Amino acid sequence: KSKVWVLGNGQLGAMLTHAGEPLAIEVHAVDIMTPTDEILPLAPHDIITAEREQWPESALSLQLSSHPHFVNGPVFSRLADRFSQKSLLEQLNVPTAPWVLVDDTTQVATLYQNYGPRVLMKRRTGGYDGKGQHWLKQAEAGDIPHDWRNLAIAEQAINFDEEISLVGVRTRAGECVFYPLTLNLHQDGILMASIAPLTRLNHLQTQAETMLSAIMHELDYVGVMAMECFRVGDKLLVNELAPRVHNSGHWTQAGTHMDQFQLHLRALCGVTIPQPQVNFQCVMVNLIGIEHDSRWLSLPNAELYWYNKEVRPGRKVGHLNLSVPNMAVFKSSITALQTWMPVQYQAPLAWILAELT
Ligand code: ATP
Ligand code: MG
Ligand code: MG
Repeated sequence: KSKVWVLGNGQLGAMLTHAGEPLAIEVHAVDIMTPTDEILPLAPHDIITAEREQWPESALSLQLSSHPHFVNGPVFSRLADRFSQKSLLEQLNVPTAPWVLVDDTTQVATLYQNYGPRVLMKRRTGGYDGKGQHWLKQAEAGDIPHDWRNLAIAEQAINFDEEISLVGVRTRAGECVFYPLTLNLHQDGILMASIAPLTRLNHLQTQAETMLSAIMHELDYVGVMAMECFRVGDKLLVNELAPRVHNSGHWTQAGTHMDQFQLHLRALCGVTIPQPQVNFQCVMVNLIGIEHDSRWLSLPNAELYWYNKEVRPGRKVGHLNLSVPNMAVFKSSITALQTWMPVQYQAPLAWILAELT
């Protein structure tokens, strides 16, 4: 029986654990944030993965990350640093937002000259959900804060049509399998909702798969990876990569016969990977900083994933997967959510309705 250890025990680790059950893969999601003297009973043939790109160094995290079967070991630090991640994209000629490292010599005037009046600085490491970003605005005479030098990159503001992501998997033999593209809505830097699949995005599928294949091959990557993109007309620009299962792939739990968590485990354990069948078009709504509402459970086409975390403003505490068996059921569920959910959900719910109806 295969045993997989996960660095991190947040919701992604929990959903990986859940996905291991039908495959008889024993998954242990490990809390690497709480200090402990514990040592894990790792066996030589066990497999190690991670649900996050970065973790604090401790005896426990070192025990996991130094195991010979820590899959994709070198990839995490390479992608966790936006400087090396963007350098990789450049090296592979994969289109991405124009960027530069912010170092001691960087002048804000040059940034405005090269990129225009709005420039987005992003911390090299540690940012998520739009945290770790700083907009420089020429109109406000925005300057580079001194404590961002050498710790950030600066990017051109992309006036994108929309945001799209591709979730794919690569096996040890180098075969790649992909889900259909996902359309994503971000609000204040955080993913609010996703829709997949969408016929109108089909013509971009090959372009996206070619980009993510090149990246996964170059990294000799094994498992699920997500690629976030901006769509500008018919062209995709990579925004960022995540070497793990990803929030924009959560719809696969309800929409396909094999979700991203199972695909990741299969790849790690060398189990065959079929092309996942899409059973339903699906919408995923992130539950962010809101209390549990048992009415959600009454929706006939909804699956609730509640992470059992303390509710804090801006914190992802769950998600709802709504499948689209037919428009009548779908519409009435969204209409119900419009009356139940707080104001910050009105725009995402309207966005969903506009896309699907
Ligand atoms: P995540 O939670 O996805 O890891 P993050 O904090 O790592 O988020 P990004 O994905 O780089 O940050 O950016 C968050 C959001 O900010 C993007 O989804 C997009 O909406 C917006 N954004 C990022 N880069 C740009 C850009 N160059 N131009 C315009 N908007 C941008
Ligand atoms: Mg990110
Ligand atoms: Mg992102």
